Amino acid sequence: MQTTFDVPGHITLQMVSRPLPGETPEQRVIRLAMKAVIEGVTLIGSVQRRCFATSSRDNCLTYTVNVPEATCTCEGFAHSGMCKHLALALVERVLNPDPAAPAANAA
Ligand SMILES: [Zn+2]
Repeated sequence: MQTTFDVPGHITLQMVSRPLPGETPEQRVIRLAMKAVIEGVTLIGSVQRRCFATSSRDNCLTYTVNVPEATCTCEGFAHSGMCKHLALALVERVLNPDPAAPAANAA
């Protein structure tokens, strides 16, 4: 699928490669999603459930991202519990809510 999350042109890979001082978990997800976009990570499949993310280093390799369970099969996720693939999928899910799901803010 075509990702809808976009990164402003003045944001460079160097700016998003290191954590900000005092970075919150939410800021971390946004930063890693920007890193994924800059590095050309593509998501294939549904961000509502499970999708595949292309590797930024090896375009023959894909990782499985389980969005509801917030897991990814890449080494970065195994190391730190978060990665750019999952971050991009989480941001995409927020930007593209499942039309079949009840609204989260329904009374
Ligand atoms: Zn990953």
